[in-house]
Amino acid sequence: MEFEPVIGLEVHAQLKTKTKIFCNCSTSFGAPPNTHTCTVCLGMPGALPVLNKKVVEYSLRAALATSCKINRESRFARKNYFYPDLPKGYQISQYELPIAEHGFLEIEAHGRKKKIGITRIHMEEDAGKLTHDPDRPFSMVDFNRTGVPLIEIVSDPDIRSPEEAGAYLRQLRSIVRYLDICDGNMEEGSFRCDANVSIRPVGSETFGTRAELKNLNSFKHVEKALHYEIIRQKEILVENGQVVQETRLWDPDKNTTTSMRSKEEAHDYRYFPDPDLLPLVIDDNWINDVRKSLPELPSAKTKRFIKDFSLSSNNAETLTSGRELAEYFEECTKQFPNPKQVCNWIMGPLMALLNAEGKTISEAPVSASDLAELLKLIDNGIISNKIAKTIFEEMAQTGKAAKQLVKEKHLVQVTDVSAIEEVVSNVLTACPKEVESYKNGKTKLLGFFVGQVMKETKGKANPKIVNEILKEKLK
Ligand code: ADP
Ligand code: MG
Ligand code: ZN
Repeated sequence: MEFEPVIGLEVHAQLKTKTKIFCNCSTSFGAPPNTHTCTVCLGMPGALPVLNKKVVEYSLRAALATSCKINRESRFARKNYFYPDLPKGYQISQYELPIAEHGFLEIEAHGRKKKIGITRIHMEEDAGKLTHDPDRPFSMVDFNRTGVPLIEIVSDPDIRSPEEAGAYLRQLRSIVRYLDICDGNMEEGSFRCDANVSIRPVGSETFGTRAELKNLNSFKHVEKALHYEIIRQKEILVENGQVVQETRLWDPDKNTTTSMRSKEEAHDYRYFPDPDLLPLVIDDNWINDVRKSLPELPSAKTKRFIKDFSLSSNNAETLTSGRELAEYFEECTKQFPNPKQVCNWIMGPLMALLNAEGKTISEAPVSASDLAELLKLIDNGIISNKIAKTIFEEMAQTGKAAKQLVKEKHLVQVTDVSAIEEVVSNVLTACPKEVESYKNGKTKLLGFFVGQVMKETKGKANPKIVNEILKEKLK
């Protein structure tokens, strides 16, 4: 029997607001433990939560960018459970009436485009952080993170492979980054994903029993954990066994998942509307204002790059994967209107440099306009492409402009025909055997002669002129 996986993802994105969701404590990271706390986020009796308007605005941005329907009235609910990182004994979340529902994302995987439904987006508060020191007989808790705003984005069970799951997550992360509402860092936990997965016989209309996978803190882990889990469940079904509904933990060292706990049901949490918070009412004006403030989103930008700059869809996607990278490309192309060449230089030398130095595009040591100046020098025949690569590296190291480096290092390309002719003649005289073979039909040797001339001129001869002169002289 053939089986197919059914996958649904729950993403928690930490919102980049300055203060927490229900109090004015700072959300900044890295402060000494328990210094960003107050009566509200510590859950003192009688302390009352006040909703942070920015959290709603950021949630609206996410909802509109994923084509969700906004609920004009939504509610906060208490999700009750006991754990030492949760001082109130309940988490304020949204349950029956989330801020937004019924959206979708368009992804591309296996060479095909596909829509993945978004079930809901809701707001909630984060819990504190526990640290367990194996050498001490107790655990410690830091409440600085308690009350930091999150949105949970729940997908429909529309995903059918680990690759689609990866594409969905990358797309979603790129969107929250474009919107500037979340820094999207999976390793540091500001963009967290739980993956639900079940399998069923191909053609079946009903879903199988699912497992929920946790501890997935990179895209690679999500894909690997899903691969492992799909095989594990298939083996159970093939042997006529039954998959149990449970939460499983990904072990990145062993590349396996292990059972953590049987899945709790919603009624275990005794959800009820939070009596301390009014229903949240959002009017059309606010929605329209937020809609107008949205930036061009990655998918729209990709389409525009393909159309306006005649880029391949692969290149367009890479260039629009981040807002800063796309801006760098557009800025450079504005000053040097050859998009193909700009793209090649960004994907090649610039990326290599950034990777080697562990830098992001916003820290690029060569600015977009400095790169454009360099490309102009190639275009005007002042330097060769090869020398431009060396100059590019020097620009990164010294911060000097391309023109200045060319002057300082006497790297101006030799385009003087008589000067090149002289070198060509010398090369041909020095290699009589090769000249004979060439004349006897081994025309592949042209490359060899070009190489010799370039060597003699330290790469400064204009290759086009070298080729022409060689062909002429070897006739
Ligand atoms: P919970 O409240 O336990 O998290 P939800 O009903 O909210 O459960 O679903 C959570 C996620 O699980 C959603 O992304 C949904 O698409 C996915 N999901 C639900 N049923 C299945 C299933 N049988 N197989 C795979 N994924 C599923
Ligand atoms: Mg859930
Ligand atoms: Zn507080």
